[in-house]
Amino acid sequence: MSDEPMTARCMRCKENKEMKDIEEVPMKNGGTMAKGVCVDCGCKMCKFLGKKKEKEEEE
Ligand SMILES: [Zn+2]
Repeated sequence: MSDEPMTARCMRCKENKEMKDIEEVPMKNGGTMAKGVCVDCGCKMCKFLGKKKEKEEEE
């Protein structure tokens, strides 16, 4: 992986912002969420990271 910052849409800033304090949280459906905090306003944000790579684009 590169060390590009992870971004997500901030509800307060209403745009994509860099996310800090990232915590990856597994979901019941097998996917992963990244939870973090907006570097600009401190608002909590989260991003769906997708399922682990067993299947990429299959359904
Ligand atoms: Zn923000």
